[in-house]
Amino acid sequence: SAAEIQTDVVVLGAGPGGYTAAFRAADLGKKVVLIERYPSLGGVCLNVGCIPSKALLHVAKVISEAEEVSHHGVSFGKPKIDIDQIRAWKESVVAKLTGGLGVLAKQRNIQVIHGVGQFVAPHHIRVETAEGEVTVTFDSAIIAAGSQAVKIPTFPIDPRVIDSTGALQLADVPKRMLVIGGGIIGLEMATVYYALGAKITVVERGPQLMPGADPDIVKPLLKRIEKRYEAILLNTSVAALEAKKEGILATFGGDNAPEPQLYDRVLVAVGRRPNGKLIGAENAGIRIDDQGFIPVDKQQRTNIPHIFAIGDIVGQPMLAHKAVHEGKVAAEVIAGHKAAFDPSTIPSVAYTDPEVAWMGLTETEAKAQGIAYEKASFPWAASGRALSIGRDEGITKLIVEKDTRRILGAGIVGSNAGELIAEAVLALEMGADAQDIGLTIHPHPTLSETLGFAAEMVEGTITDLY
Ligand code: FAD
Repeated sequence: SAAEIQTDVVVLGAGPGGYTAAFRAADLGKKVVLIERYPSLGGVCLNVGCIPSKALLHVAKVISEAEEVSHHGVSFGKPKIDIDQIRAWKESVVAKLTGGLGVLAKQRNIQVIHGVGQFVAPHHIRVETAEGEVTVTFDSAIIAAGSQAVKIPTFPIDPRVIDSTGALQLADVPKRMLVIGGGIIGLEMATVYYALGAKITVVERGPQLMPGADPDIVKPLLKRIEKRYEAILLNTSVAALEAKKEGILATFGGDNAPEPQLYDRVLVAVGRRPNGKLIGAENAGIRIDDQGFIPVDKQQRTNIPHIFAIGDIVGQPMLAHKAVHEGKVAAEVIAGHKAAFDPSTIPSVAYTDPEVAWMGLTETEAKAQGIAYEKASFPWAASGRALSIGRDEGITKLIVEKDTRRILGAGIVGSNAGELIAEAVLALEMGADAQDIGLTIHPHPTLSETLGFAAEMVEGTITDLY
């Protein structure tokens, strides 16, 4: 006989969207059940996404800075890599955060059920747990079941062919690594493995790395990695992978396709797909699109009024900060608040070396939409701080609406671009114009000044470049 639990709100999936929604609903006085298939809370982001990748990217950054400073009079020699210790350190960071979530859930009296959940009716989810079946009856549900890496069915099943989760496991450092997909995840993992000593080839089907960002913002990154990586193959696809004893043989397609090559490791980073088709949604009448996304309105409501959905499972961009904000909205709407998810922009950041960050309208989009805009690109070669840290390849670009001078978009490439973009996001959310940013006194000498300089450039009021 299966156990039964009755609750106000059930949350399916404990990633950034799910735990945020569960915490907010509990804080608003609701009885909450949180269902998660894995033993650890935190979802993709904390366990196999944002956090472990950033822990490894930090190691990569230190290695890269040690290399840079050798041109300024200090040499450390070749780094000695203890892969077990790096892995243990990364795991300790993840464990701290996921353990913390467990404590925070307990403090709120949230009942966490570990097991795979499926809708069986509009007010019922059945969970397969290690101890048997549990049926949760709920007034409202929030689906936060996330996404998973796209697999290419024709590629061989082989331990040397991995996805981002495999790459983050850091089993070893391959001699020669092929990264399929020149998007954020592929390029971040390339940054890590390059720093640890692997020879990297990146293959991207499209004409540009980091599709979605303006090409001029991606260029400084491309310039730097072109010198360091074995190859960057644009407009090229991988036609086939073949598992051989000596390695994985990759055959390429496209006009510039090289001869077939052997690699010790192949990372497949060609995108992520939502888990919408895996949760028994049809049993509750929830509409799902062909790709497996669950359509929602601005209150995160699905077509079934008491069922909400948030995070990667509702659509692009698949980013943790989007999931978190959507999670709050869903919980607040369920608690009777007047909330809606209506951001002016959701920023994107690639934590590569250099970092690439963008928000609002890109120049490509502004052109395509026929918007009358003006832009300024401030070169970091004129920033005292960028020169002082030996990284002057950066650019800070602002796009403003021609008549109103309002900020429409920004793109930044360079050290700490991911931190720097936040000011532009705030400006956009507050409806700031370029003069607002130009008149704001930024501390000197900082990289944050470059945003002030770009604003002054676009307004024609810039005097000093330093
Ligand atoms: P998820 O985090 O996917 O969580 C869903 C949870 O639901 C999972 O724990 C899953 O086990 C559980 N689940 C699914 N189905 C069921 C079921 N039927 N029963 C029980 N449990 C279930 N985003 C950023 O913003 N910044 C970054 O730097 C960043 N880096 C990334 C790096 C990598 C390598 C990857 C892969 C992703 C990265 N992302 C990053 C994306 C980010 O991880 C996701 O956008 C985010 O995790 C989405 O949160 P979510 O709550 O929608 O779902």
